[in-house]
Amino acid sequence: MWRAAWTKATFLGFCWISYFIFVGLAGIAYYLVHPRLASIHAWIDHAALGFTAGFALLIGAGLFLISATALTGIDLLYPHRKRSVTVKALFPIAATLSQLAGVNRNKLRTSFVKVNNALTKAQRGRIRGDRILILLPHCLQIDVCNRKITTTVDNCVQCGRCPVGDLAKLGKKYGLKIEVVNGGTLARSKVVSFRPDGIVAVACERDLTLGIQDVYPVPVYGVINDRPNGPCFNTCVDMDLVEDAVKFFRQDHPAAQPAS
Ligand code: SF4
Repeated sequence: MWRAAWTKATFLGFCWISYFIFVGLAGIAYYLVHPRLASIHAWIDHAALGFTAGFALLIGAGLFLISATALTGIDLLYPHRKRSVTVKALFPIAATLSQLAGVNRNKLRTSFVKVNNALTKAQRGRIRGDRILILLPHCLQIDVCNRKITTTVDNCVQCGRCPVGDLAKLGKKYGLKIEVVNGGTLARSKVVSFRPDGIVAVACERDLTLGIQDVYPVPVYGVINDRPNGPCFNTCVDMDLVEDAVKFFRQDHPAAQPAS
């Protein structure tokens, strides 16, 4: 449990540092323009102060709720727009800061995915409907297989040479739509056409981080793939992690119930 909290703390920590830098810069900017604004009209000066303080408070409140929800598992995220504003405003700064601090980029992305998964889990009660999509990267397919699985995963004959067959079986077991995609553009178009209520996405840290932000507010449960042969080539994935993610979305499905 402590290890999971520590993993999430990397992203949250950099977000909080970014936040305080952002507040500091906003304060300095206001301090510099304040005499000029006051000389034009006191009302304009007060409005600028109110806007700066209000925006900083909005971001701070959003970040506090995100941190508390991610670490406790209690859903405090209402309205959910706060999450969007906060993540979009702070993630790029947190990423730059972590690079300057010498933190491995994938470590920050992993932390972001864990925070996102914790938020998705906490918001379980709000995920309506059962249109769940499993998005898989094309690199899971072994290079010597020429079955056209990006057209439909039904073209996989489940020969057992790569994880796609087991994932296709898993999809059938839980009655889920599975799409294999070879990039962000195809992934986005699959999401737009299927309009899922939730997504289980398997990908590398980078693609997951971009994808989660891209499809927001659709809840995504991300599973990072394993790359024993290097990036984007004959990758694999821990099936237990994928099944856990599927069970999370399909708790009401008969296949997700423990056998009695
Ligand atoms: S399981 Fe077999 S048929 Fe399916 S994608 Fe992998 S290698 Fe191809």
